[in-house]
Amino acid sequence: MILEHAAVEPFLKNGFVVGCEETREGIIIDPGDEVDQLLDAARRQRLTITSILLTHAHLDHITGVDRAKAALGVPVWLHEADNFLYERVVQQGLAFGFRVAAQPPVDHFYQGEGPLRFGRYQVRVLHTPGHCPGGVCLAVSREGEQETVLFVGDTLFAGSIGRTDLPGGDLDTLLRSIREVLFSFPDDTVVWSGHGPVMTIGQERRTNPFLT
Ligand SMILES: [Zn+2]
Ligand SMILES: [Zn+2]
Repeated sequence: MILEHAAVEPFLKNGFVVGCEETREGIIIDPGDEVDQLLDAARRQRLTITSILLTHAHLDHITGVDRAKAALGVPVWLHEADNFLYERVVQQGLAFGFRVAAQPPVDHFYQGEGPLRFGRYQVRVLHTPGHCPGGVCLAVSREGEQETVLFVGDTLFAGSIGRTDLPGGDLDTLLRSIREVLFSFPDDTVVWSGHGPVMTIGQERRTNPFLT
């Protein structure tokens, strides 16, 4: 699997390019202010990006959708329950003191777990509400293989969990999503979150103070 990530000020939010080493097809996850680095990475890796997948619609995860879509001309996917946030990105910016451009409309709402595909890889879409109503985690694996890499947005961080004080957030729902969905994966599963360093399921199961 080809995996590139980038994060820039002010949000230091991780955006990702994930590609198939065999077919050179790929996806972009959560393009924000670091979108130019993601587009550069896709070019450097000679990837044909086939879709833009969003883990959720908080402004830091979607401010680069317009530029990604203009550059790539591919569909944008989101969980329908977060569309109210997506459509209010300008107001989200105002609430945090940032001027943010409106974003192009979402093309597709996720339908169940999918899966979506790029090259030899599949993406299962796991609904994990709690940080926001339409939060999803994206479980990427190679066809016929068990090993999975999780992209969890702001559901889980190394040593922490997503905030639940924003519209539609709920702590009990978030803890249930983490325990029932994410902790169903084996300990050695690699987890990339929306902010901060990479982790594993086992590390968080053992040491995350919100979950032990
Ligand atoms: Zn968020
Ligand atoms: Zn975030």
